[in-house]
Amino acid sequence: MSISPDPKALSQGVLAGERRALARAITLIESTRPDHREAAEALMHELLPHTGRSVRIGITGVPGAGKSTFIESFGLHVLEMGKKPAVLAVDPSSPRSGGSILGDKTRMEDLSRDARAFIRPSPSGCTLGGVARRTREAMLVCEAAGFDVIVVETVGVGQSETAVADMVDMFLLVLVPGGGDELQGIKKGIVELADAIIVNKADGDLAAAAARAARDYKNALHLLAPASPHWTVPVLTCSALARSGIDEVWSTIATYRDTMDKAGALADRRAAQAHAWMWNEVSETLLQALRDDPRVERMLPDMERGVAGGRMAPGAAARALVRTFRGQG
Ligand code: GDP
Repeated sequence: MSISPDPKALSQGVLAGERRALARAITLIESTRPDHREAAEALMHELLPHTGRSVRIGITGVPGAGKSTFIESFGLHVLEMGKKPAVLAVDPSSPRSGGSILGDKTRMEDLSRDARAFIRPSPSGCTLGGVARRTREAMLVCEAAGFDVIVVETVGVGQSETAVADMVDMFLLVLVPGGGDELQGIKKGIVELADAIIVNKADGDLAAAAARAARDYKNALHLLAPASPHWTVPVLTCSALARSGIDEVWSTIATYRDTMDKAGALADRRAAQAHAWMWNEVSETLLQALRDDPRVERMLPDMERGVAGGRMAPGAAARALVRTFRGQG
């Protein structure tokens, strides 16, 4: 991998909106090599003052709900509005080979052909924490590169939803027609993260079912405590395939941003996210340092065997490892 060793030069390329620089910056962020990590941090430091201006949107839904079709239609609509979209994916289930759920089909063909849009598949083969960190940084790099709308997509089958909701301004849940049953198929925790629900596939034979589903979801939402006192979660219908209802989704996003901004809730949300992010980084960094410590490494096999064999309490083993790491062992 050829990566510019000079974060300053790379940041200038990103700020100038150069595609190659953008791609290289994200590759640098995704690298796990310690020297690359250092360069990535220097790069983020350069770019940070130029971030914060985009609309950050998270999208989730079960496989087949029509997320990629929706993101394509939505992205094209964003382009029509004279704004530039970037799409990032979070898919921690991707195997190292890169044959991810998100990568194995031709996705967002029209959008990917447009030079004003940027689509980045998910980094593969790492932990959720790792993927989330990289995606968040990639989002900031895209902001610095001048993208107006950043869409972060998650496959909606794991825990990645919380990680994505924690990095965006607005979190959208894409559902399909099929009555109230569907809502129960989605974990309640995920529904609670949603700032808007979109019933997709409201076309042809499914149009009536979609309208019914939207009514059912609206009723079901009354049973949930609202996530924000400033916002009532709307339920919209659209057809990503027929590209209808997409403008309503866009105007709902604009209303949400406006409402939350006026209430000061958007700035609060971003501040809370940055704060939580710092503590995530503390945990990740400490854990990595502990794992890399040669003294800990020497102790670890015995400890793990002891815990697995029931000879040692997990809590005691954990504390012994931490004591050793701190040089008190
Ligand atoms: P994802 O797995 O959530 O990304 O879903 P896809 O976007 O790949 O769509 C899954 C299937 O649903 C594909 O066959 C799409 O053509 C179809 N689909 C997506 N959006 C719509 C829609 O608005 N209406 C209809 N009828 N089918 C759709």
